Amino acid sequence: MKKDTLLLGSHVDMNKKNGFLVGAFKQAQNEKANTFMFFAGPPQSTMRTDINEVKIEEFAQLCQENNIDRDDLLVHAPYLINLANPVKPDTVSFSIEFLKKEITRVLAMGVSLIVLHPGASVGGDRNVALTTLAHSLDLVLDDFQGTKIRIALETMSGKGTEVCTNFDDFKTVFGLLKHKDKVGVCFDICHLSDSGYDVKNDFDGVLAEFDAKVGLDKLWATHLNDSKNERGAKKDRHENIGHGYVGFDAMVKIVHHEQMRGIPIVLETPYIGTFCPYRDEIEMLRTKIFKNLKPEEEITANTV
Ligand SMILES: [Zn+2]
Repeated sequence: MKKDTLLLGSHVDMNKKNGFLVGAFKQAQNEKANTFMFFAGPPQSTMRTDINEVKIEEFAQLCQENNIDRDDLLVHAPYLINLANPVKPDTVSFSIEFLKKEITRVLAMGVSLIVLHPGASVGGDRNVALTTLAHSLDLVLDDFQGTKIRIALETMSGKGTEVCTNFDDFKTVFGLLKHKDKVGVCFDICHLSDSGYDVKNDFDGVLAEFDAKVGLDKLWATHLNDSKNERGAKKDRHENIGHGYVGFDAMVKIVHHEQMRGIPIVLETPYIGTFCPYRDEIEMLRTKIFKNLKPEEEITANTV
């Protein structure tokens, strides 16, 4: 059941150096976040710390004591996975097996939502890639019936041969899926803009098109990033809130939009040098008051 509240947080670190899940929780708490996202292990590697060492019990207790519902948290799936590859069956079978292991890990952490890059057609046929993606998702989910796992496919920028760069792609995938109930969508605001959607001037129009082609009930999470590039650039370069081509006013409108209530919104904006911007960006978005975090630089496309 969707909560009637604004859920806002960031992509926090979850690793040995910061004390695994406890460190991730504390970072989010310091940022005054009420949701957050993390990697369940290094995103470019299959190496994983033993699940018994990542402090699950302390994490569960911290969440409970602080009124954080673990069903509002997100894990970002590793980048190695391409469930859509239409030309290399080995890549697909590796991806299926690795994702199954990762989901088992995520469920052990008490988290139910995993965000996944839908993949790329890498020189093969785009429609075959979409069919492969749907089939692979079903093969993964065959093993998780009766669990609470949900997979949110991320909207991609259109860089390279990525699939799911427009709502028609999602419509195709959902039309093919057997386990439809366990698959949804994660908006990425930078990617939507880069792939051509006018999130800056017409977020209502974007939501209306999504509703018509996919269904608003499938919007399960959002990555909130500004973009270093103009709409339609297909580049995928995230920018700090209010410093890019989407701009602060549009970001505030999205965060406080009625349709976004209860949907976890997480920042994946870049660090400014070594400075982590999330605490300030979360505050700016909640209060609707812009604060220039890099005054020495010119704002790419100032709208504030
Ligand atoms: Zn992502």
